[in-house]
Amino acid sequence: LQAQFANQSLVFFDERQEQQFNRKQQLFVQLHEALQKGGLSLHYQGLIDLKSGAVIGAEALARWIDPVSGPIAPAEFIPIAEKSGLIKPLTLWVMREAFGQLARWRAEGLNLRVSINLSARCILDRQLVDDLHGMLKEFNLPAEYVVLELNEAGLADETATAMETILSLHKLGFCLSIDDFGAGHSSLSYLKNLKIDELKIDQSFMRTMATDANCRAIVQSAIQLAHNLNLKVVAEGIESARTEQQLQEMGCDIGQGYYFCKPMPADVFNQWARSWQINRRAVLQA
Ligand code: C2E
Ligand code: MG
Ligand code: MG
Ligand code: MG
Repeated sequence: LQAQFANQSLVFFDERQEQQFNRKQQLFVQLHEALQKGGLSLHYQGLIDLKSGAVIGAEALARWIDPVSGPIAPAEFIPIAEKSGLIKPLTLWVMREAFGQLARWRAEGLNLRVSINLSARCILDRQLVDDLHGMLKEFNLPAEYVVLELNEAGLADETATAMETILSLHKLGFCLSIDDFGAGHSSLSYLKNLKIDELKIDQSFMRTMATDANCRAIVQSAIQLAHNLNLKVVAEGIESARTEQQLQEMGCDIGQGYYFCKPMPADVFNQWARSWQINRRAVLQA
């Protein structure tokens, strides 16, 4: 395993690089083990319809607490998985877990959709479409309740395989979303070529929106761009009432962020979602 990982890495190190490399190599081995032993979990963060105030879905976010190293952030372990080939088993695990949760929500009468992050590496794998199709049938789910969030970075190259995969996922009825829109690697050309349904504006814009007029102009333009292309817009990273209100005024469709709720384990999320629905409904009727 270590050799497999080492193969993909550079040869010359200084001390700090060596430490970083050793940590990555160690985490790779531990992640491999976690995937085999069921050491990962999913948290869910609510998505709010900014017009009605209703919770309409949740984003599934991978969580990993290693018995030795403690909690490891996705920002650290997802790139390790992507570079080592563990991303495929990890993604299949996340999908299966999230599909199961969606099926339970539906059985319990919660009308929610689930958003799942899909690494760029995965859409280069031709097997993915069959795997997802098989899982839909297994869990007896309508594809339009599953949102697949694709990172912009993975679309920049517009490789033939990636384009084919995305088209096949669209034909199966999945809702396709562009994650971290505007965060970098931006090429607008994929917007005209791809069958996508939703743009998710990167959270960096929400952080400075309240005080920065240029930032507001960019967010407003991104919302207009999305609407002109008949796409829904999601804003992630909403941390204040002021930001929510500004986004509402700009016509943004859906919001996500700590202001509404943090990512939570499934059972906590379910309680939160039920009480949110009841309280918001009470506010709307009042
Ligand atoms: P993302 O898909 O853009 O997810 C949103 C991230 O922003 C999450 O971080 C979430 O906890 C965080 N967040 C949400 N609201 C706020 C807010 O109001 N303020 C701030 N400061 N942060 C907020 P997280 O869970 O650490 O995930 C980081 C990234 O790791 C994700 O970014 C996604 O790219 C990746 N990731 C997480 N889970 C998975 C997974 O299962 N598969 C793949 N391929 N990638 C994943
Ligand atoms: Mg995401
Ligand atoms: Mg994002
Ligand atoms: Mg992100």
